[in-house]
Amino acid sequence: MKLNNKRKTQKPPWLKKGLPEGGDYQRVRTLLSNAGLNTVCQEANCPNMFECFSKNTSTFMILGSNCTRNCRFCNITCETPLPVDPEEPMKVARAALDLKLKYVVVTSVTRDDLEDGGASHFAKTIKAIKLTLPFDPKIEVLIPDFKGNAKALKTVVHAKPDVLNHNIETVPSLYPAARPEADYRQSLDLLQNVKDIDPLMKVKSGIMVGLGESSEELELTMADLFHHGCDILTLGQYLQPARKHLKVQKYYSPDEFKKLYNKAKLIGFKKVAAGPFVRSSYNAKDLINF
Ligand code: SF4
Repeated sequence: MKLNNKRKTQKPPWLKKGLPEGGDYQRVRTLLSNAGLNTVCQEANCPNMFECFSKNTSTFMILGSNCTRNCRFCNITCETPLPVDPEEPMKVARAALDLKLKYVVVTSVTRDDLEDGGASHFAKTIKAIKLTLPFDPKIEVLIPDFKGNAKALKTVVHAKPDVLNHNIETVPSLYPAARPEADYRQSLDLLQNVKDIDPLMKVKSGIMVGLGESSEELELTMADLFHHGCDILTLGQYLQPARKHLKVQKYYSPDEFKKLYNKAKLIGFKKVAAGPFVRSSYNAKDLINF
């Protein structure tokens, strides 16, 4: 499919988000900045940042703030990556302790420059959180594709996070435009491999809608995810982060999201979150019990 480059200019009214009052926003921001940690919330300019920080939650982003890939929907900087900080796993664990997190979400930039794609750093971070937090937290990791490196995936799965998340992001026809350095089949295989390594692991993925996918393609992608072992699905509206990124082709209404939710449940996903502001880590702890 070819992307239409015309831009949807006006955001519909349901995409106007009020700022939550009070809460922990400033405290969380200060704590993260003092700890020298990155969050995907800030780097990706997530529309839920005020809400999530105010509710004392955030998603840690490890392995630096520079990504080796140039996905055209993503706000994270694509530049030469910095050396990995060996102290980072402990820094994340201490921050999670200070924030008293019961559900910790960790993601990373893509590090194609590292032999294992950063898998061992993910494993160290999971272990550091488990050893540091006294109240048995749940841990979700949102991982890159490790270029299909099965050994790297095993390293993360064997560290026993509670949820292994890998976003498929969009339908296969839009990969060349949206994720030129990624491979749809490789991402599906990764999800399947998680279940093959640990059949009990909860597997999650997410799709952004509004990039120009057809409803048939969307349904096929959901079915592909389900048939590759995915238990949990998130569906959210793509929003163009800056002028250089792909334009929004369609704003899905809340009613259309309800229909997508119903379709996903019909396909068989155990948990689904669908809505204009749903992101893969949004209210993540609510999708784990099944
Ligand atoms: S939805 Fe996820 S990425 Fe966005 S602010 Fe909340 S925790 Fe951060």
